[in-house]
Amino acid sequence: MITQAAVIAVGDEVLHGETINTNAAYLAQQLIAHGVRVAYHLTVGDDRKQVAEGVQRALEAVDLVLVVGGLGPTHDDITAEAVAQAVGASLVFSPTVDAWIRARHGTGPGREASIRRQSTVIQGADLLRNPRGTAPGQRLAVGSRWVVLLPGPPREMQAIFETHLSPWLAGLGQPAVLRDTWTSYEWGESAVAHLVSELVHGQHPRVGLYASPGVVEIRLEGQADIGPGQSLVVARAGAWLVGRFPGRLYHHARQAPLATWIVEALQRRGWRIGVMESLTGGLVASRLIEVPGASTVLPMAVVAYSDAAKVAMGVPAATVERYGAVSPQVAAAMAQAARDRAGADLGLSTTGYAGPGGGTARYPVGTYFVGIAWGEGVRVRRRQLGVERQGVRAGATELALALLWETLQHPWPPMLAQDR
Ligand code: ATP
Ligand code: MG
Repeated sequence: MITQAAVIAVGDEVLHGETINTNAAYLAQQLIAHGVRVAYHLTVGDDRKQVAEGVQRALEAVDLVLVVGGLGPTHDDITAEAVAQAVGASLVFSPTVDAWIRARHGTGPGREASIRRQSTVIQGADLLRNPRGTAPGQRLAVGSRWVVLLPGPPREMQAIFETHLSPWLAGLGQPAVLRDTWTSYEWGESAVAHLVSELVHGQHPRVGLYASPGVVEIRLEGQADIGPGQSLVVARAGAWLVGRFPGRLYHHARQAPLATWIVEALQRRGWRIGVMESLTGGLVASRLIEVPGASTVLPMAVVAYSDAAKVAMGVPAATVERYGAVSPQVAAAMAQAARDRAGADLGLSTTGYAGPGGGTARYPVGTYFVGIAWGEGVRVRRRQLGVERQGVRAGATELALALLWETLQHPWPPMLAQDR
């Protein structure tokens, strides 16, 4: 059984913050799906002693140690040497790896030394061929524990994980851990914490709350106890949440899937949407356009930042003059204009004061409005966040997607009549 892992990132650029350690995040997420929890992350520089000590300490604490980076052909790539030293193994030349590298890159003047270096592996390690590069992964049993070496470039690391480690872990037959996420966009973090406190304190799955501007995620995590991909504790906790939570919640695996759900729901209904953004400057459109197939549902998205641009895109000048660009009236007019200009069924808009300047007594900095129009109707929702500029923009983006989700989930009566 492998239940706990440590991820050791090797590299000066990661240590100094020039490269963000996305490999650790990827690995932690992949491992949990195989029932392996990451106990800790460690980042060290390109330093033999630090790598060796990190591996030794990790082997005392966890079943699986993943060492990522420093497997390249240059003199600062010391991971294999350091790990060999830590576990008391020697390094050997591998004709297999030599052949893999030559098959991939051919030979050439000046390449011999680097091929030789990358073909030098830890004796006794299983070699994990790299489908996207030269440095192979290496998997070494140390007593009942394991050390796995992976190259640092994320594409290569992920390819080796998918082709070799994922099937290996799956083959161990460990109960997977499932994670379900419910997102509240109407309540703040402390209110959500209070509302779900019964769940947190009961003998339920692990519950985690993660707040970001405009949304609070409630993550439920439990073992697949009633079959592959199914967890009774997670399902029951989810049902409890839906029944007891006083606000709306949407359900997804990660952020992108909300936009995916929206695009697919629009496609199913045969509806199209036009977007006009001010405050969010394209963030809403970008989230939708990330999803393949968005072109079938999003004919037009514009950023109309100035008053003149809003008017040019069809917002009545009188409305802007009378109420000001940041107002529910203008949010509504923007949504309607977006729908009309796009020749779409729905229109979505954002406007607000991101700060740090601006704002009025009535609508202070951090206030934003999201409008959604369809048929004869239009709805506007107002929020205010006391966070910095990018946080306000992120919050408005989340609210826009959430309102769209809400509308598609529960179309208002005139919408039902048009439903195809
Ligand atoms: P190479 O043959 O490219 O040298 P390597 O296994 O030695 O492979 P590194 O030198 O550690 O890998 O890193 C290579 C690239 O991968 C660099 O661009 C680096 O920024 C990136 N990288 C390394 N570690 C990480 C990490 N933990 N998260 C994200 N990117 C990383
Ligand atoms: Mg390197």
